Amino acid sequence: MWPYKLQCFDCQREPAAVETGLRCKTCDGLLEVKFELKGKKKPSWDHRQVSVWKYRELLPIENEESIITLAEGGTGLHRCTRLGRKLGLKKLYVKNEGENPTGSFKDRGMTVAISKAKELGKKKVLCASTGNTSASLAAYSARAGMECIVLVPKGKVAGGKLLQVAMHGAKIIQVKGDFDQAFKTALKLAKRRRDLYLMNSINPYRLEGQKTLAFEISDQLGSKAPDSVILPVGNGGNISAAWKGFTEFQQLSITKTRPRMIGIQAEKAAPIANAVKRRENKIRLVYNPQTLATAIRIGSPVNWPKVLKAIKESKGTAETVTDSEILQAQRELATLEGIFVEPASAASVAGLKKLRANMRVDASETIVCVTTGHGLKDPSVLERLPKSRTGYNLEITNRTNLDALRRII
Ligand SMILES: *Cc1c(COP(=O)(O)O)cnc(C)c1O
Ligand SMILES: [Zn+2]
Repeated sequence: MWPYKLQCFDCQREPAAVETGLRCKTCDGLLEVKFELKGKKKPSWDHRQVSVWKYRELLPIENEESIITLAEGGTGLHRCTRLGRKLGLKKLYVKNEGENPTGSFKDRGMTVAISKAKELGKKKVLCASTGNTSASLAAYSARAGMECIVLVPKGKVAGGKLLQVAMHGAKIIQVKGDFDQAFKTALKLAKRRRDLYLMNSINPYRLEGQKTLAFEISDQLGSKAPDSVILPVGNGGNISAAWKGFTEFQQLSITKTRPRMIGIQAEKAAPIANAVKRRENKIRLVYNPQTLATAIRIGSPVNWPKVLKAIKESKGTAETVTDSEILQAQRELATLEGIFVEPASAASVAGLKKLRANMRVDASETIVCVTTGHGLKDPSVLERLPKSRTGYNLEITNRTNLDALRRII
């Protein structure tokens, strides 16, 4: 590991690196891990397999013995020629984060944050979650032998995710309301109870793990950054972490350029996209956010200052999509490319379609859509599929005449 410090994202003051508080003591700003990269050269890591820990020099873990891992990262960057042709795009890729150990990108952050928790001597970890953070934390805390408490919005978590949390033996607390209420409660709990370590994306160590998404994309494109990266945005940790990753690779001269960062939100849960559209430098909270893409059903995103800065600096943008656009994109990705993602993930593809229709992306651009979570996490989508997809009602017995199938096959 290279030397780093913790720094306030707003006032740039530096709390000590071992500090475990999650906000600046002076101005209450978000914290950020800073590596000093001036004059540094790329570490000799080319022989290592693509994965989160390939980049361990740029991850804030002091001892390799602290590392808790389930082999995260190394996910496919899939060239999508069939979907690309449909959208009139020559170089479209999907970075499929559903291929991570618990089925979402959250594992990238969790392997680093739980390793840090171990270094800090923590025994109990806590998070509020729309599902995937808790599924990931439950798995990693089990592997680390730590106690795990998760707060989830009651009745609003996809079935597969809740199953994961229960299976790994975390304590599940169902909170009335939506994610924003659950997160508020988690913040209060973490403040009051010093033995609980908060693992939401306000935790700067988690975002360090998540920045490896950008490292991998650049590596997989042959030390090149794409022109545009499109991600679904909830709390905004992932898009800010990816921007940090692209920036660090450019500082190390591994890549020459940085991509436009494009964030996609669901129409009725879009505080960040709305701020970008209104050209405001602050968000307006959304009360009672609505979307079937539960992973991005968030009205009060904690990382908004980082997101707005990433979009601005990168000359990127943000867009909103409806639930039916999300479901359609989910089906297209599955039928045209064989990639099955959960609804929130399909928002990136739905957003791309909208941007393309409005001529806001070029046919010749290299575009990467990040699909953030696996499709199996949310089986409730089955009920929304057209009847023609869910099977024909034809009872087959030994005596059935094959002619009966002729109508169908
Ligand atoms: C967590 C999550 C998101 C949102 O990521 P943020 O870092 O909160 O913006 C999007 N999609 C899926 C599947 C997720 O689990
Ligand atoms: Zn500060």
